[in-house]
Amino acid sequence: MSECSTRLREQVWDLGRCSGCGGCVGICPADALYFDIGEMHPRFSGYCKQETDGVSCNACNEVCPRLAETAAPVGSVLRVVAAKREVPISQQQSGGAVTYILAQALDAGLLDGVITMSVDRFSQAPIAVLNTSSGQLIESAGSRYNWNAPLLSVLKEANRWRLSRIAVVGTPCIVSAARMIAESSHDLVVPYGKMIRLIVGLFCTESFDHMAFIQTLAEKGISTGDITGMDVKGALVVTLRGGVQQKLPLAEFEEAIRPGCHVCDDFSAGDADISAGSVGTAGGWTTLLIRTKTGEQFLQDAVLGKGLLIEENVDMEVVGKFEKEKKERS
Ligand SMILES: Cc1cc2nc3c(=O)[nH]c(=O)nc-3n(C[C@H](O)[C@H](O)[C@H](O)COP(=O)(O)OP(=O)(O)OC[C@H]3O[C@@H](n4cnc5c(N)ncnc54)[C@H](O)[C@@H]3O)c2cc1C
Repeated sequence: MSECSTRLREQVWDLGRCSGCGGCVGICPADALYFDIGEMHPRFSGYCKQETDGVSCNACNEVCPRLAETAAPVGSVLRVVAAKREVPISQQQSGGAVTYILAQALDAGLLDGVITMSVDRFSQAPIAVLNTSSGQLIESAGSRYNWNAPLLSVLKEANRWRLSRIAVVGTPCIVSAARMIAESSHDLVVPYGKMIRLIVGLFCTESFDHMAFIQTLAEKGISTGDITGMDVKGALVVTLRGGVQQKLPLAEFEEAIRPGCHVCDDFSAGDADISAGSVGTAGGWTTLLIRTKTGEQFLQDAVLGKGLLIEENVDMEVVGKFEKEKKERS
C-alpha cells in the first residue's frame, strides 16, 4: 500500500467518509485509483508513482474534500435570484436554469466542456459525462439522486481532449473537490485546476447508492425502467410511465443513503460559483445563489440570450432551514 492511499484508506475509506466525488481518481497521474461497481470508495491498483518510482506525488490527498483541513465553506452570497427557462425542456428538474446557463456558455464559446451526471439509456444508471455541445448537455438535464459514478474521474478525459474552459456541475462534495483542484498549487493538479472556469453546485440533502436504491424500489414493485422522473420534496416523488406519481417516505430509503453523506454538513454547495436548488422558489423555478463574480458573469451572459426569466422573490428562510437541518444531522 502506498503512502498516498494509506492516508485515504485510514482517514476516509475505512471510516465510511468517502463521498465518491472521484477527485482522486481523476487526478492520479498513475491511474492507480478506480471504482468497482457497487463500491463505496476507490480501489488501489498497487502501482503508485510515489511508492514505486519515488516521485513526490500525494495528489490524491491534495484534492480529497474529506481530508480538507478547513471546516465546511461559509458560502458567501452576492445575489439571490429565481430563474426559469422561457421555453422549458422536458427533462429539466426545476426551472432548467442550470442547463440554460451552461448551454449558452457552450454556444458562446465561453466553455468548451461541461462535466455532469447523465443517465444510461438502457440501464437507467447515472453516468458521468463530458458534454461538449449544448445539445448533448440538454439531454443530460434533470437530477440524478442516486450515485453510481465518480464524477470528477472525467477530468482525465477533459485533459486528454486538451479542453481548457470547462464547467463542473455537482453536489456539494463534488463542488468542494473541484474548488480544491481549481485552487491547488500542486504541480500535478495545476493542469486540471487551470481547466476549471465555472463550478455549479446543486443543493443536496443526501444521495443514494444506485444498487441499494433500485433494490429498495424493486421491493416496492417499482422497476427503474418504468420511471420517467424523480424529485425529492420532503418525500421521494417518483413519476412512472403514463404520468402516475408515487410519493415514497424518505425514511424507507435510509439504508440506501451513501455512508459518506452522513458526514457532510454542506446543503447549498458553499464553494460553488453558482448554487442551484428547488427550495425557496415556486415549482418550475430554480433558486440561484450567485456566490462569486465568475458566477455573476456567467449569469449575465446567459441573460443576454433572452431565454431566461429572472425574478428576485426567493424565500431564503426556507433555504436557511435546510442548511441548518443538514448541519445538525451531520
Ligand atoms: C443528489 C441531489 C440531491 C438534491 N437535493 C435537493 C434538495 O434537497 N433540495 C433542493 O432544493 N434541491 C435539491 N437538488 C437540486 C435540484 O434537484 C436541481 O438540480 C436544481 O434545482 C437545479 O434545477 P434546474 O432545473 O435548474 O437544473 P437542470 O437544468 O435540470 O440541470 C441539472 C444539471 O445537473 C446535472 N446533474 C444532475 N444530477 C447530478 C449529480 N448527481 N451530480 C452531478 N450533476 C448532476 C445534470 O446533468 C444537469 O446538467 C438535488 C440535486 C441532486 C443531484
